[in-house]
Amino acid sequence: MKEFDDQGCEICRQQWLSGTHPRELFVCASEQVSFYQCDACGAYWEETNRYAAQVDQDRVQRCRDRRVDV
Ligand SMILES: [Zn+2]
Repeated sequence: MKEFDDQGCEICRQQWLSGTHPRELFVCASEQVSFYQCDACGAYWEETNRYAAQVDQDRVQRCRDRRVDV
């Protein structure tokens, strides 16, 4: 996993640090992970109850495919 300072861009890092987050995409209920995308740099992020980290598009797509709306 990359260092936090190497993830996303200044704008989305600052959002996490300030207690907000980039634009929310969807929630993966089975993993209890929320996915976000930065409108500035396009980076995808996942947020668990422990951390937020940049993830690649494949990870987002796999979870989106498995997503079940309740
Ligand atoms: Zn960004």
